Amino acid sequence: MYDVIIVGAGPAGSLLAKKLADADLKVLVVEQKKLPRHKMCSGLISSFSQRILKKEIGDIPPVICCHPKIIKGIQVYPTRTQPPQKFREKSHNVWRNIFDFWLTIKASEAGAEIWDYTEVISFSEKKDHIEVGLKGASSTQKQETRFLIGADGGLSFVRKKLYPNLQMRWFQPYQTYWKGTIDLDPEYFYSFLDPEFTEFFAWFNVKTGHKGKYLVVGTAAEQGKTIPQYFNAFQEYLEEAFGFKGEKLLYREACIAPVFFDTTSQFKYLFGKGNILLIGEAALLYNIFAEGISPALTSAVQAADAILQEETPVLEKYKENIQPLCRNLKVAWNSIFEIFPHFLSQVKEKG
Ligand SMILES: Cc1cc2nc3c(=O)[nH]c(=O)nc-3n(C[C@H](O)[C@H](O)[C@H](O)COP(=O)(O)OP(=O)(O)OC[C@H]3O[C@@H](n4cnc5c(N)ncnc54)[C@H](O)[C@@H]3O)c2cc1C
Repeated sequence: MYDVIIVGAGPAGSLLAKKLADADLKVLVVEQKKLPRHKMCSGLISSFSQRILKKEIGDIPPVICCHPKIIKGIQVYPTRTQPPQKFREKSHNVWRNIFDFWLTIKASEAGAEIWDYTEVISFSEKKDHIEVGLKGASSTQKQETRFLIGADGGLSFVRKKLYPNLQMRWFQPYQTYWKGTIDLDPEYFYSFLDPEFTEFFAWFNVKTGHKGKYLVVGTAAEQGKTIPQYFNAFQEYLEEAFGFKGEKLLYREACIAPVFFDTTSQFKYLFGKGNILLIGEAALLYNIFAEGISPALTSAVQAADAILQEETPVLEKYKENIQPLCRNLKVAWNSIFEIFPHFLSQVKEKG
């Protein structure tokens, strides 16, 4: 029997696995994709994430970074006619597949078992353990564990099973990678809130690696809405305002992610039931402008602390530990809504 089975080898799952394996617990991480796996992301590792990583693992190795290695901050354009507001906050600019794999290797080195190409397809609570159904490339099997952790991201299977009646809102980010040129400083991440371009925010950033320089242009709308009208308007604006020339479209990708507000426009976080905990995006922890890695890492640290202490029921301790993070996330979002009031009406559900 495992002490802990963790579903998902993202930042939340891998850091938790490392911490628990360091404490000599028998830990299994199951990841449905082949590792290293791709994750749609801007790949900015905030200074808060860097601090957690430095304490728990070490500095981010330069080989994980793309150029510019350091992003100086974010420039937010409230509308197409207003000047940007600059927020200075240094982030590392990384390739997500390699960054996440670095964390998974650290978990493996600490002694956690890592099974990729393995999907959790069921779980049920027994008297003194949890039985977990796993589907590999060619067979299914059952494993037993004392604790099950849903670190399985925004679309979390574990969350869906624990809260089958949960009403969720979803948004659909769409991101394109271009060969081309633009008159914007590559050392910033750019966010655009004009409702002509997006129902949340649109973005631009630059990533350069050994395969060349990518101009990354993206936007997002509520699930079910058509993205092209927003994307085309945004692209035209980038051409007019910043001389964007997209010489060749190299890649495009889309995904579905949870909205950080529930259907009643309240912040909602979900932490699990009994000995089944949710961490990271599975718990709906999301920082401003889709910065999800620092809450993923923080919740992993807090869940590890709760599992390793012996006095209080683990879920109670985890909920207590995580409160400061939840408060900080709400304060951050509310301050953004105060600075950009129309952003709030944009992200609130439209009747
Ligand atoms: C367009 C976009 C840009 C973003 N940019 C940034 C950014 O620049 N900086 C930042 O901090 N955050 C960013 N985020 C958010 C960030 O990517 C997430 O919040 C972060 O990855 C959450 O980490 P996690 O470990 O909770 O989950 P994830 O990284 O999503 O990992 C979950 C893992 O679980 C696996 N899994 C799912 N279901 C199962 C199952 N049933 N069985 C086995 N495995 C399973 C998945 O394959 C996945 O590998 C961005 C998000 C989007 C959509």
